[in-house]
Amino acid sequence: MKFLTLEQAQLGALVGEAVVDLVEASNELGIALRAHSLSELLELGDDEAQAAWAVAERALELGLPTRKFSEVRPLAPIPRPKRNIFCLGKNYGDHAKEMAGKVDKGSEVPEKPIFFTKATTTVIGPGDPIPSHPGLTSKLDYEAELAVIIGRAGRDIPSGQAMEHVFGYTAFNDVTARDLQTAHGQWFRGKSLNGFAPMGPVVVHRSVMPAPKDIEIHCWVNGEQRQRGILADLIFDIPTIISILSAGCSLLAGDIIATGTPAGVGMGFSPPRYLQKGDEVIVEVTGTGPLINCVA
Ligand code: MG
Repeated sequence: MKFLTLEQAQLGALVGEAVVDLVEASNELGIALRAHSLSELLELGDDEAQAAWAVAERALELGLPTRKFSEVRPLAPIPRPKRNIFCLGKNYGDHAKEMAGKVDKGSEVPEKPIFFTKATTTVIGPGDPIPSHPGLTSKLDYEAELAVIIGRAGRDIPSGQAMEHVFGYTAFNDVTARDLQTAHGQWFRGKSLNGFAPMGPVVVHRSVMPAPKDIEIHCWVNGEQRQRGILADLIFDIPTIISILSAGCSLLAGDIIATGTPAGVGMGFSPPRYLQKGDEVIVEVTGTGPLINCVA
């Protein structure tokens, strides 16, 4: 099951290469769907997701109009999250090493997960420009990541039950102003300028999520591959992240957790290779489709 947010924020499904507008299709088929957006689907849970997926399959069987995925420009899956995006810092060993001593004085590989957040106003969708914020930053950087989308809310979630709270996952670019990240002690400001969270295009339901060793995270800048990682290399895996983050702190439907970036960010090069106006950044996670944004 793969879902996306279409132009008017209405719920869509991706079946093979065909995009089904689930609001139109359910009207056409006379099947009542309670969720008209992905955010509503996350609130309603897996039963509604199954119902929505059944509408998509029925629409294809009956030959209702669909569009090709390559001809659709979806919005971010959750265009305006209800609260800040949770993020993991230094959660791949090779990235922790390349950043050693550059953004803080902490040890190379963290003993406990490093959590920070990004403002909700950072979110942009596939194809939207990443603002370069001239005058504010001259060290604009990319971080390709897998983002977890929480479905079922919970608190004090044991790691053995954590995956039941995951709805699915999508591709995420944790865009960062390195100069602001290092200048302000805490990372929030360098991570929270407008446009600093491109995400999408597709949310892959956990039921079709491959094993972590088979989930790849890639980043290309102007066609040159800069990052390549696999989810199995996370220092703190998804069940551990959810278990620790939810201890005494409720997770809500629609929460987004960006799980960290592998090696190869601009700051990791010597000399550093920061983003410039006009650069094209592509982030892709297995199954999500390419997340393409240009720096404006
Ligand atoms: Mg990051």
